[in-house]
Amino acid sequence: ERIVSGTAESDELYEEQSLRPQTLKQYIGQEQVKSNLAIFIEAARQRQETLDHVLLYGPPGLGKTTLAAVIANEMGVQLRTTAGPAIERPGDLAAVLTALEPGDVLFIDEIHRLPRSIEEVLYPAMEDFCLDIVIGKGPSARSVRLDLPPFTLIGATTRAGSLSAPLRDRFGVLSRLEYYSEEQLREVVLRTAEIFHTDIDPAGAAEIARRSRGTPRIANRLLKRVRDYAQVRGNGVVTFELAEEALELLQVDRMGLDHIDHKLLKAIIERFRGGPVGVETIAASIGEEAGTIEDVYEPYLLQIGFLQRTPRGRIVSESVYHHFHMEVPVDERN
Ligand code: ATP
Repeated sequence: ERIVSGTAESDELYEEQSLRPQTLKQYIGQEQVKSNLAIFIEAARQRQETLDHVLLYGPPGLGKTTLAAVIANEMGVQLRTTAGPAIERPGDLAAVLTALEPGDVLFIDEIHRLPRSIEEVLYPAMEDFCLDIVIGKGPSARSVRLDLPPFTLIGATTRAGSLSAPLRDRFGVLSRLEYYSEEQLREVVLRTAEIFHTDIDPAGAAEIARRSRGTPRIANRLLKRVRDYAQVRGNGVVTFELAEEALELLQVDRMGLDHIDHKLLKAIIERFRGGPVGVETIAASIGEEAGTIEDVYEPYLLQIGFLQRTPRGRIVSESVYHHFHMEVPVDERN
C-alpha cells in the first residue's frame, strides 16, 4: 500500500468519521464550491424544497463523502449512503429509494460504477420522484409506478468523464473538487492535531502539508505516522525536524512523491530521454497498466507540472531534473 495514496485503507474509514467537519464553515478550502452550495442550500431551505441533485467529482481523498455529509447536515436532513458497486440489481436500488424519508440526502459513491440497467431506474426517480417497477414475468408482467419521497441525490465520482451523458444531465449542480493548497492542508493538519490532542509546531504542520499531495486524507495519514515518530523519538511534540525525519523515513519526499513516482519519472528520463513517450510504452517499461498510470499515478504529477500531456505523449518538465539534482539535457532541436 502506498502511504501517499488518496484512497482510504479499510482501517482508516472508521477513524475518519471523527475527523470529518460537520458544517460548511468547518469544511476547509474548496471556496468556490462552498459558496455556490451555501446559496443553493439557503434557497432550497427558504422554499422548503429539497436541494437539487449534486454531482461531486475529483480525485480520491479530497472530501466528497465529507461534503455530502455536510450538505445533509446543513439541510437538516438525514444522510443515507451507498456505493455504485453495492447496487447490483434494480431491486437493490428500489430498496434504498423506498426507505428514504422526505428530504433525505442519498449519497452514491463511485456512481460511475452503476450498471446501465440500474441507471435507467434512477432517471424517473431523480426527475419525478417515482419508480417504475415490473411485476410478474412473461405475458402477465405489468409495470407499476411507485411514488417516492422527494430526495436529493449526491453522486461522487473520480471520473466525471465515465458517467453516461443522460445521468450527468440529471444533476442540477456539478461541483469539481480541486487539490488543496499547502496553506489549506496546514489548516487540515492543525485541526486534526487538535482532535488528536497532539502538540504540533506551525512549521511541523507546514512540512506535513507540503508532502501531502494536495489531499486531506493523505495529510491526516501522514500526521498520524509523524505523531507516532515524535512520541517515540522526541517528546511527543511534532516539530519541523521530527516531521522531516519521519517523512524521510517513510520515503515521502519534499514534494510528496514516493518510490513509485520516482520510478515513473526516472523511467521517462532514462529510457525515453524525458519524452515525449506514449503512456502504453511507459506502462510496458515499468510493468504497470496504462489505466493505473492514468488514474492513479499521473494526476498529481500533472497537477504539479512535473509531467505534461502532449499529443505525442508524456514529457517530464525541467523541474523534475532539478528535483532529482540531475542535469537538464540540452534540447537537441535547438
Ligand atoms: P473517496 O474518494 O475515497 O470517497 P473522499 O473524496 O470522499 O474520498 P473523504 O472521505 O470525504 O474523501 O475525506 C477524507 C478525509 O479527509 C476525511 O477524514 C476528512 O476528515 C478529511 N477531509 C476531507 N475534506 C476536508 C476538509 N475540507 N476539511 C477538513 N478535513 C477534510
